[in-house]
Amino acid sequence: MANHNKTAAEGRTFRRYRDGDSKPESWQEQIFKAGWSYKCPVYVQRTPTCQNGCPAGEDIRGWLDVVRGIDKPPEGVAWQEHAFRRLTRANPFPGIMGYVCPAPCEDGCNRRAVEDRVGINAVEQFLGEAALKAGYSFARPTKETGKRVAIVGGGPGGLACAYQLRLKGHACTIFESRAELGGMLRYGLPNYRTPPAVVQGEIRRIIDLGIEVNTGVRIGKDISFVELDQSFDAVFWAIGTQRGRIPDIPGAHAPNCIGGIEFLRAFNEGRLPNVPQRIVVVGGGDTSIDVTTVARKLGGVSATKPDGSPLTYTADMVTSAAVHSGQKVTLTSVLPVQRLKASEREVADAQSLDVAIMGEIMPLAVIVDGHGRATGVRFVHCMHDKDGKRVPKEGPEFEIPADLVVFAIGQVADMEGLEVLDNGRHAIAPGPGFQVLGQPRHFVGGDIVAPHLLATAIGHAAIAAEGIDALLRGVPAARRPHIDKHHFDIREHLRKNAKPVDGMVTSPEAVHNFENRSHREVIESDALFLAHFATTERIKREERRLVDLFAQGGERIVPLNADQAVAEAKRCMSCGLCLECDNCVVFCPQVAVKKVPRDQHAVGYYVTTDYTRCIGCHICADVCPAGYIQMGLGE
Ligand SMILES: Cc1cc2nc3c(=O)[nH]c(=O)nc-3n(C[C@H](O)[C@H](O)[C@H](O)COP(=O)(O)OP(=O)(O)OC[C@H]3O[C@@H](n4cnc5c(N)ncnc54)[C@H](O)[C@@H]3O)c2cc1C
Ligand code: SF4
Ligand code: SF4
Repeated sequence: MANHNKTAAEGRTFRRYRDGDSKPESWQEQIFKAGWSYKCPVYVQRTPTCQNGCPAGEDIRGWLDVVRGIDKPPEGVAWQEHAFRRLTRANPFPGIMGYVCPAPCEDGCNRRAVEDRVGINAVEQFLGEAALKAGYSFARPTKETGKRVAIVGGGPGGLACAYQLRLKGHACTIFESRAELGGMLRYGLPNYRTPPAVVQGEIRRIIDLGIEVNTGVRIGKDISFVELDQSFDAVFWAIGTQRGRIPDIPGAHAPNCIGGIEFLRAFNEGRLPNVPQRIVVVGGGDTSIDVTTVARKLGGVSATKPDGSPLTYTADMVTSAAVHSGQKVTLTSVLPVQRLKASEREVADAQSLDVAIMGEIMPLAVIVDGHGRATGVRFVHCMHDKDGKRVPKEGPEFEIPADLVVFAIGQVADMEGLEVLDNGRHAIAPGPGFQVLGQPRHFVGGDIVAPHLLATAIGHAAIAAEGIDALLRGVPAARRPHIDKHHFDIREHLRKNAKPVDGMVTSPEAVHNFENRSHREVIESDALFLAHFATTERIKREERRLVDLFAQGGERIVPLNADQAVAEAKRCMSCGLCLECDNCVVFCPQVAVKKVPRDQHAVGYYVTTDYTRCIGCHICADVCPAGYIQMGLGE
């Protein structure tokens, strides 16, 4: 029959069915005869939409269940630690994620159909901060396999892969061409977005697993591909894309035209104490926004304090003075301003710093003076035709004067010395399981495959680590599932109750009528009983505007406290897994659903059905808020 859960936008109803709804929608439903059927409830675990949207593949519902108190920690372990350990099975950087992951998980969160998404990223940040404060470390492997893996690139992808492999007992050596580990986290994202203590703390915790680190070593130059290949049992490539793309227009190679990545790297290395007065940034994505906000933070070289006295370039003074200095930063994009690729929050930040944003204009040429230096950029208004191709609009060309031009239009990899891996497009092509095509002992992940997010690089690394582990153990790599995430394993919980009886091991696993479809099915909001959930406002973190941050210092995003984190986790509807609400027990007219005795209880095994009493009325399935109960063929 029709499910009349409505979305938040449609206005929620407390009815699952409308009056007069009596006709079955599908032949599967026709088995119901009046108030009974030949179907009985089975318990079906599915992947929640949040988890499906997390590129790192975190078991989000799992660690939220720990925070909200459904999944209890072992004796003597704090819930914060239990949740942290569950989360870090997939992603060893919860603190960093809390500051900079744009949280695609929240975009898909089913709770939106009630009133607003769950603040997953905020709870994750809380756990990351709590773990650093408490000094939780990762347990070193108890057994060494004797196998050695080289990890090329010490960014988030490389570090995440080293972490996963080390936990499996393999020796890992990271080769990083720069002086410090972190990749774009350290050299790309402006350091006011990623608190250094959090970045250093989370990297240190991984290295403390016993990982060898060689910084200042570029593979392909200091060590050749062949040498590396011969010295290790397997190699993981996470070299990212380290060069800004420069457009193919006249004048673009003038000495005062640079790539966005080069600009940000200079800032993060402290080599950029100030910038010239007029800066034109060509882009429209997150990198271009970072460039503009850094430029505003630094301020112009000729900036003076409001009282006219010269500046001394301590960070805060420069910033507050530069904001008043008349320094002009213009961001240009070929897209309309409302459709910039950068996130809304980043665009608002740039606007709060008086960055001028001009949409739908395309650069034609960089104008250079007699010394070959850029003095401006010539643009024309543009639009996109019906095939999405960019075309100039009729009308006059115009110039924007510039002392510095920054192109933030994408990055390319540096494949010098690594031509054997180059797929012809300055990237390394992955095969199944992120194995490099044609190189069975080599795996790849992160931006070098396709630039995206930190969480994406971390997700690739976890999958590649499983492939490398299989290779090193000499077993065939497991076939990757359709939904390739870290799934909650109910059997792990059920087995803890297994008891030997007369030489046989019995386990609720055998009796609990349970099916795990997490690897192939996602549970959407229309499969939930949304009316169960009272409207509860999302607990928001304090997110400070950059203009205030630069003037006053401190952190950009203020983490939740423990009470807030628990309250926010309680908003999670536990989509696709029992949330221990008792509805099915209370509403079953046959008293066929019973709570599992306390000493046998496990997460996902909270209730059980007496199939001798069940008449298949499907009331339990209708009132299950989490969509965990499905009517299956039974006796
Ligand atoms: C300006 C900017 C802002 C961003 N903001 C965000 C954000 O807010 N949120 C988000 O989720 N993502 C963001 N990203 C994307 C994110 O930073 C990347 O997706 C992520 O860092 C990719 O990780 P990686 O390990 O693949 O590559 P990288 O982080 O690039 O690390 C690769 C490492 O390999 C090293 N290396 C390269 N070649 C060699 C070699 N031959 N030998 C040895 N070492 C080598 C490099 O020095 C580098 O340290 C941003 C990216 C940029 C550029
Ligand atoms: S890593 Fe990003 S996408 Fe994944 S749970 Fe955290 S915030 Fe969500
Ligand atoms: S309600 Fe909870 S389980 Fe469901 S999608 Fe949102 S965070 Fe995930």
